Amino acid sequence: MNEYDVVVVGGGSGSQIATAAADRGLEAAVIERGPLGGACITRGCVPSKALIHRADAVEEIRRSPEIGLDATLEGVEYAEITSSIRDWVYEKAARQERGLEEADAVALYRGEGRFVDERTLEVDPVDGDAPPDPIRGDRVVVAVGSRPLIPPIEGLEDVDFLTSDDALFLDERPDSLAIVGGGYIGAELGYFFGALGADVSLIGRSDVLVPREDGAISEFVTESLERHCDVYAGREASSVEAADGGVVVTAERTENGDGGDEPVDGAGRDGSIDLEADRLLLATGRRPNTDTLDLEQTGVETDDRGYVETDSTLETTCDGVWALGDVLGEQPFKHAADYEARVVAANVLDDAGREVDSDAMPHAIFTSPQVASVGATETELADADREYESTTVPFDVAPLGVVLGADGFVKVLAAPDGEILGCHVVGPQASILIQEVVVAMERGDGTVEDVSEPVHVHPALSEVVYAAFDELSSNRYSTAPDWRDVGG
Ligand SMILES: Cc1cc2nc3c(=O)[nH]c(=O)nc-3n(C[C@H](O)[C@H](O)[C@H](O)COP(=O)(O)OP(=O)(O)OC[C@H]3O[C@@H](n4cnc5c(N)ncnc54)[C@H](O)[C@@H]3O)c2cc1C
Repeated sequence: MNEYDVVVVGGGSGSQIATAAADRGLEAAVIERGPLGGACITRGCVPSKALIHRADAVEEIRRSPEIGLDATLEGVEYAEITSSIRDWVYEKAARQERGLEEADAVALYRGEGRFVDERTLEVDPVDGDAPPDPIRGDRVVVAVGSRPLIPPIEGLEDVDFLTSDDALFLDERPDSLAIVGGGYIGAELGYFFGALGADVSLIGRSDVLVPREDGAISEFVTESLERHCDVYAGREASSVEAADGGVVVTAERTENGDGGDEPVDGAGRDGSIDLEADRLLLATGRRPNTDTLDLEQTGVETDDRGYVETDSTLETTCDGVWALGDVLGEQPFKHAADYEARVVAANVLDDAGREVDSDAMPHAIFTSPQVASVGATETELADADREYESTTVPFDVAPLGVVLGADGFVKVLAAPDGEILGCHVVGPQASILIQEVVVAMERGDGTVEDVSEPVHVHPALSEVVYAAFDELSSNRYSTAPDWRDVGG
């Protein structure tokens, strides 16, 4: 038996707990079956944003005549782009692995871990070596993440399809691509492939893309993405079949989906439509990797979709076993998993009894334009019967918004006493602009004045955030910019 103070299953965000344990002089182990760093580094956040950086550059070139420049795109070295990103992220993962191996007292087991009792695991090595002796931890952290969910679509077993795992590193850009799934991964990759010149059909079940966002944001993104993709919102892929070296996807109108009252061009009498494409990409959500763990050997309970149940300190229903990240099914973002790793580290290493607090957990979607959000949506407030005030301010309220020809807005939702309840941004640099609102909610009193009182740099895009919060504040002497009538 290999005995440790702390054992972490999953080398994504969880591995940071093993490193923190080692820094305290404890014996720690990480069990990881794939590249170190988890989904984020090799098949999630980082490579997808590296691709989207290229899409943004292409868009800048396309828009150059608007500002009197005559730039043209001479070509796209597609294979070079994807192979250089792949080499770079795998080198980063390898470095992380070397770093962990060099760290004193962190043992790395390269293989798939499976529980044999409450806090003991066996490892099936990835390289075919003989399995090590079972691994036991005084405390165990379950951080095995998630993988693409494959929906039951008729005919899927007979066609080739991609998921986000492989769509990031294609050698060739498909001429046409059908994406099933209108959530954030579909919206990001639809933008990327569309901007790079592929004919993209984007099929989403809800009437809008990114339907979990505030309604105004979802509508704006749905309209904006029509510049890059043919959007089929309110439709569901019911069957697929191979055709002419590609694939045909049949998309039916969802029960409540509008998808147009009349059949769109080429649609059948029932409103179903056949979409032909060279490649098919499924972006239909994720499922937790907990089914690989034999959790039934432990007292760790999961919900009916396999997400791990924990209390507010992230301890599972089994004493001494903790969980974090995508396996919780709550906030499937890298920064959320890292935050949860900090909470678990404090509780595992210091018995701190720290509770997780995600009220000010932001997220962003790197589509076109960017989206960022923190707190409640207007629908959530209405459903909770909460009294609120709302304001929406467009980017051209700020001079830099006008200079950049920026499309988008900042929407603020606040209680009558000024407490910030939610903020939703769509437009350039939304992922950066949201941060001051997060700080105000997390560290200030959480009122609109926490954002509107501090001085904002002029002329920066943060003046859009300033102007929006200023509108809801009690400030009687406003100097917030308003360039809306000036235009550009
Ligand atoms: C295309 C895409 C884009 C994304 N973009 C963003 C973004 O822009 N911003 C953002 O915040 N988030 C983004 N995410 C989400 C983000 O990647 C995840 O939320 C984050 O990686 C979750 O961290 P984790 O540690 O919980 O899981 P992971 O990072 O998935 O780590 C879990 C690890 O456990 C390993 N594992 C699984 N089962 C076992 C087992 N039985 N034994 C041993 N090891 C096992 C896996 O190999 C994996 O390495 C994106 C995801 C995708 C797919």
